[in-house]
Amino acid sequence: MLDPSSLSFYDTVIIGAGPVGLACAIEVQRQGLSVCVVDKGALVNSIVGYPTNMEFFSTPELLEIGGYPFPTSGYKPLREDALDYYRRVAFAEKLPLRLYERVLSLEGEAGAYELHTDQGRIHTQSVIVATGFFDVPNKLNVPGEELPHVSHYYKEPYAHAGQPVVVVGAKNSSAKAALQLARAGAQVTLVVRGPELAESVKYWIRPDLVNRIAEGRIKALFNTTIAAIRPGEVDVVTENAPQTLPASFIYALTGYRPDYSLLAALGIDTQPDAARTPWHDPETFETNKQGVYLAGTVCGGLNTSRWFIENGRFHAAVIAAHLAGQAAPTPPPVLQPVQLS
Ligand SMILES: Cc1cc2nc3c(=O)[nH]c(=O)nc-3n(C[C@H](O)[C@H](O)[C@H](O)COP(=O)(O)OP(=O)(O)OC[C@H]3O[C@@H](n4cnc5c(N)ncnc54)[C@H](O)[C@@H]3O)c2cc1C
Repeated sequence: MLDPSSLSFYDTVIIGAGPVGLACAIEVQRQGLSVCVVDKGALVNSIVGYPTNMEFFSTPELLEIGGYPFPTSGYKPLREDALDYYRRVAFAEKLPLRLYERVLSLEGEAGAYELHTDQGRIHTQSVIVATGFFDVPNKLNVPGEELPHVSHYYKEPYAHAGQPVVVVGAKNSSAKAALQLARAGAQVTLVVRGPELAESVKYWIRPDLVNRIAEGRIKALFNTTIAAIRPGEVDVVTENAPQTLPASFIYALTGYRPDYSLLAALGIDTQPDAARTPWHDPETFETNKQGVYLAGTVCGGLNTSRWFIENGRFHAAVIAAHLAGQAAPTPPPVLQPVQLS
């Protein structure tokens, strides 16, 4: 039974307290509308979950929101710099936050929506969905994937010194994890489905990994897929023959996708294109549901590198202007998609 006192009323509710959701809240609030940001986890929950020592590839000014300068001591911000920056901005703007509250579904119509969460109902005239892509990993779909020594999220290498670890994936995340793990004393096998590392592996990471593979510090199996996982070992299928590898831990770093079940529960249609793009007007970011908008990475569907912080933060001013019935600001230059993970 829902507690009636948990009912709340806002002009706009933003789902997702990531960089883009926060940017939206600031711009909408500056239009004189009442806002609330709801997140199922912590403030900037996705960045909280990134690798501990992660360094952004963007320089700090390209990650700024709300016009607040992002001071850093280094050329590229670290994860901790970003966590600190976005918290300071959210607190400086006194953004109303409802953290650790998961949005489940949406009922009603434009001007009178009712958002259902795991803690109650929120009444709102409009909704901005800024839920990113980091909550639903692309699965290997093999037996044993749900075992506790398998993870789709990598944080740091130190628990794996002296242990055999299998890393699955050919892009930046798996390349960086394999390098860190090997340097921390793990016996790393990198399992890659295709014949080589992805082209998108950053130019400063690729030669490091290629050289570690050449000197035998990291074992790499190309044209290889995972067939089954058991405690302590993993079956792989290679070009030549099946093999069983020792594996005290498996990092399956094969990317992520938007939460399509949430989008469906919010009534947002998906286009029949290869990227399964959630339906939205590219000019206003309004979806097939009037008064419900998409912002940030979620806009790209399976093309999770189409929108990132650098370009997704500009959705905020466009949506805020549309909500306030004003002309959209001059669009920023469209940045090319990048490979992030
Ligand atoms: C390792 C790595 C490095 C990166 N480096 C860069 C970089 O250098 N530059 C750059 O521009 N981008 C970078 N990115 C990409 C960037 O971090 C994302 O594009 C960015 O976080 C997207 O912001 P967002 O606000 O759209 O989504 P997110 O930051 O993912 O925020 C979405 C939020 O929605 C919440 N949420 C989801 N479902 C619900 C629900 N049902 N109810 C309530 N809340 C919900 C989540 O908890 C989360 O806090 C990187 C990504 C990775 C993985």
